Amino acid sequence: MAVKNLLKGWSAARAPDGPKAAPAADDAARRLALFEDIERASTGWFWATDREGHLSYISPGAAQRFGIDVAALLGKPVAALFETDPDDQAERSGRPLQFILGAHARLADVTVRLIPALAGEGAPPAWWALSGQARLDAAGAFSGYRGSARDITTEYERQTQDSRAAEYDSLTGLANRHRIVRRLDQVLAAYRQTGQPCALVLLDLDRFKAVNDTLGHQAGDELLRQVGARLTKVVGKRGEIGRLGGDEFQIVLPGIDDRGKLGELADRIIGALSLPYELAGDRAVIGASLGMAIAPFDGGDRDDLTRAADLALYAAKHGGRGVFRFYSADLRDEKDERRQLEDDVRAAVASLFEGGDCPQLDLRYQPVVRLSDHRVMGFEALLRWERPDCGEISPEMFVPVAEDIGLIGLLGGWVLRRACADAAAWPLDVRVAVNVSAVQFADPAFPAEVADVLESTGLAPERLELELTEAVFMGDSHSTDAAFKALKALGVRLTLDDFGTGFSSLSYLRSAPFDKLKVDRSFVETCTLQDQNSARIIAAIIGLADALGMETTVEGVEAFDQRDVVCARGAKQIQGFLYSAPLGQQAILDRIGAQTEPGAPLLIEPSGPDRHRPERRSVYRRVGLIHQDHRYNVLMRNLSATGALLEGIIGVPEGTGVVLDLGGGQLAVCTVSRSQDAEIAVEFETALVSDGARGLVTRHRASPAALAAAARIPRVSTPQFLEVETRKPR
Ligand code: C2E
Ligand code: MG
Ligand code: MG
Repeated sequence: MAVKNLLKGWSAARAPDGPKAAPAADDAARRLALFEDIERASTGWFWATDREGHLSYISPGAAQRFGIDVAALLGKPVAALFETDPDDQAERSGRPLQFILGAHARLADVTVRLIPALAGEGAPPAWWALSGQARLDAAGAFSGYRGSARDITTEYERQTQDSRAAEYDSLTGLANRHRIVRRLDQVLAAYRQTGQPCALVLLDLDRFKAVNDTLGHQAGDELLRQVGARLTKVVGKRGEIGRLGGDEFQIVLPGIDDRGKLGELADRIIGALSLPYELAGDRAVIGASLGMAIAPFDGGDRDDLTRAADLALYAAKHGGRGVFRFYSADLRDEKDERRQLEDDVRAAVASLFEGGDCPQLDLRYQPVVRLSDHRVMGFEALLRWERPDCGEISPEMFVPVAEDIGLIGLLGGWVLRRACADAAAWPLDVRVAVNVSAVQFADPAFPAEVADVLESTGLAPERLELELTEAVFMGDSHSTDAAFKALKALGVRLTLDDFGTGFSSLSYLRSAPFDKLKVDRSFVETCTLQDQNSARIIAAIIGLADALGMETTVEGVEAFDQRDVVCARGAKQIQGFLYSAPLGQQAILDRIGAQTEPGAPLLIEPSGPDRHRPERRSVYRRVGLIHQDHRYNVLMRNLSATGALLEGIIGVPEGTGVVLDLGGGQLAVCTVSRSQDAEIAVEFETALVSDGARGLVTRHRASPAALAAAARIPRVSTPQFLEVETRKPR
């Protein structure tokens, strides 16, 4: 019936009354039958609206396809019933349906769907290609739409899948390289006009390869999926995440230049990705390194910005991993320095095996002393490197390099053999502790190497302590457990070093057979502070170890007040400068030889300052001090997050507002809090934030364009203060 009405109007519109009225009636009947066939076969549907754009007809089959009653649709504005594909619109800037209908324009295969809230419950998604034309009445006024529709759901879904595959990473569901790169281009282009910032983060997983190699690709894929999910959770709506391939990710964060906030976000990302992963029955732990660069400060276009973020990532990976770094201009030099360092480490390790007279690397032994009677219980072997033309370099700096260039096995093996041989030569029954890198520990051949060294040096296994850090739990749990078992079977002792600085997960303590915990030096450094937080943590760690039947050593005790605090908090063994710095093998033999009673235990009396003085971070850097429109050159002597000490300017009254130019667009607004002779102390209005590598940076920076504009402003007034020659750095 309804179709008849529809066709009545339709044929009337096409075949106006005229002499051929009778054949037209036959024609109309034939058409009616044809239309009804089409509707029944569901190959096409028809629809019409009145002059207000309200739906006046829709094929019943179409309504059924939506799981909805025809009556529920009739009389409603078409624009309120259907919508175009929102993604499609955003991508191809197609016009919304409402717009087309409002303009009475022709609809030619417009992809629409019933507004999801209207579709019947459980109705499958249905997409239509909607066509139609506006009808005009005799007076030329719009009298409604009339048109047809086709179900294109299958076609549409296949197309969307294809375009998803072209844009998204099938493994993690994150944007793929193609999409994220385009997104960065889009954001940078849009923001260039308005001068808004945009941060780019490059992220690389640490030790992903180890998990992939040991647990297999399926576990590796699952791990990447979980990484993607964790990243999405932390980053949220702040930006878009893409996977560039392998274990590399990129995050585009439009509108952010606050390095404080970025640093916090980076810390949260590192924290989230470093939590253990459950992979089909296996447990794995990995880490993440992040490099960050911000447009327009570090680069204006995609290439420059990506290069900057890449350099920062490189620095993060080589700065100990599990950290973030911001780009800064000196990273370019750092890359060259790093290459030089790698070459020098290679030469140093080679010097151990070349049989020359003076290898560049050597071992020192630092005594571990029992507090109650000052008796030496053991020595920790510590590597020393005399780098040609540079002096002594910290093992904290070169051990990670040796790990990266694949030489740690060789170097660590040498340390183990040498320390065991030296200890076997001590005429005392004390232990020797050897630091073992996580990379060295992960080598399945390591336990056999330990067995071999014990046998060839003749050292009793219970005299050897292997110091491991929580990094050994990185990677998969099976091989870690197997290594623990094999080492325990040899009878050596296992120590967990630097406890309290990493994950400090209690589950490790339960599952791994440690004999001792070493309380990290950082707690001792702050244990005499008023708030007593570090002192309490030391007490808690010692209590925990006691409860688990483990020994403890407290590291880094330098002064008597620290000794008193840790002693009151339950420490029984101490290692620190208060008792002794690390000693050479000859010095140890001499000390033992000087004992009045041969074979008697070795005792060391403490000696050192009464009180611990916290180290101030000294810097010697030329910086600019801006007051009104003058820039003075001053020497920065020290810097903290809240202020700085400057030298080289006379006559600045306390309370003066100045701007400190720390370079690279870093301008810190500050107030002079103290002024004496040529030295002034300033306090920052906004505290500086960490650069991820023990340095400090301003949260925001002035853009290169603003700096260039400022440089063009002519100086008008005469300087108010006197710039003076500074003394040579102390
Ligand atoms: P660690 O194992 O925690 O070693 C203790 C570090 O604290 C040593 O630094 C030691 O010299 C220092 N120390 C001891 N007492 C005090 C003190 O009272 N005050 C201060 N400020 N420091 C104190 P060192 O020798 O520079 O070694 C640093 C780190 O390098 C070691 O930390 C260890 O993780 C690593 N390392 C050293 N030798 C080796 C090695 O042969 N193999 C491996 N894999 N790592 C090593
Ligand atoms: Mg150690
Ligand atoms: Mg330690």
